[in-house]
Amino acid sequence: MRAAFPLLAACDARGEGLAYLDNAATTQKPACVLDAVDAFYRTGCANPHRSNHRLARSATEAFESARAELARFAGADADEIVLTSGATHALNLAALGYGAAVLRPGDEVAVSLLEHHSNLVPWQEAARRTGAKLVPLVPDRAGRISDAEVDRAIGPRTRIVAVTGTSNVLGCAPPVVRIASAAHACGAVVVLDCAQSVAHEPLDVRALDVDFAAFSGHKMYGPMGTGVLYGRRELLERTAPLLRGGGMVDRVFERTATFDEAPGGLEAGTQNVAGAVGMAEAARFLSRIGFDAVRAHERALTRRMVEGLASLPSVKLYGPGPDDRDERHGIAAFNVRGVDAAVAAQVLDRRGVAVRAGTHCAQPLLRHLGTDAVCRASIGVYNDERDVDRFLEAVENAQREAV
Ligand code: PLP
Repeated sequence: MRAAFPLLAACDARGEGLAYLDNAATTQKPACVLDAVDAFYRTGCANPHRSNHRLARSATEAFESARAELARFAGADADEIVLTSGATHALNLAALGYGAAVLRPGDEVAVSLLEHHSNLVPWQEAARRTGAKLVPLVPDRAGRISDAEVDRAIGPRTRIVAVTGTSNVLGCAPPVVRIASAAHACGAVVVLDCAQSVAHEPLDVRALDVDFAAFSGHKMYGPMGTGVLYGRRELLERTAPLLRGGGMVDRVFERTATFDEAPGGLEAGTQNVAGAVGMAEAARFLSRIGFDAVRAHERALTRRMVEGLASLPSVKLYGPGPDDRDERHGIAAFNVRGVDAAVAAQVLDRRGVAVRAGTHCAQPLLRHLGTDAVCRASIGVYNDERDVDRFLEAVENAQREAV
């Protein structure tokens, strides 16, 4: 698998090795994705949905085929897929394009405390603009959201529930189906942030019964600056564009304009066509491996990582306990006692182990966990037991090497 990823293969060829365990921040890109992006610019570059020459028609075909591929990947129809610059853009579109259009004063938006800032701050702004109120869905210290908490936070005033598929800090997965059923029983709409689950679990928006779903290409082996907002057809029709201008209008007069239907009406300006083509190739790459294989591989490595961390007296592990090892979807958050998280990450880096330290764009969650910063190790398809063992050895030595 490492050979399929030019950056990792180059490290190996130089004899450096790299235990890249920062996959939750971004994944490396396989050659097939790099080739797809390169081929678009080398042989297929034109602006889709504009000109009518052959090259432009083939660019339109490439862009719309990418949309169709990503729709298949998400279990949706192509006209329910808005291509965006990433999950952040997609969540802003859900919150400020849809949320701000439908929320009224006194309405409630339930947002879990597990959320990345990208699925919280846009809802804060939607609430500010409309007079709606944010209601936190609070997990316990292990990251679990109980049935009682779902029933407490979601009620007759709830109009929207925003929840992550997998916490980017703790790796745990909220009970999305349970949350969606409670939300729908109250007539509320569910917005799923699947930025962290999309490379690890199959996505089926119908089976999950969510109304919007957002994800980024770069966390699923695709290019940076790409992403998707899935929205149910009738909800996308009620979503206002965040950007207005070329490529999304129907008729334009001196003082007014009418817009195209979604998804095109929500995609103003020249799009990242090569990026969309690359993201669709990443979806095919994952489908070729198959999520059964991805899950089996990543689950085994996650167990090894969590059990190893739990066995080290110098380590404080956050989130699900070592007995709940399958509840962490490839992510482990920890601190080395007495060592600042940023320093611990630097010590690991000196041993060729890449992890992230900090608040991970989840300050409310870290406050809830009673810490300022944690280190996070996160797994991808190219990691192996050697990476995990090298990581554990580096963590074991971190106290000594930090001084
Ligand atoms: N949601 C989650 C759970 C994330 O982990 C991230 C990125 O770390 C985002 C949203 C934002 O993704 P992007 O930076 O690709 O827009």
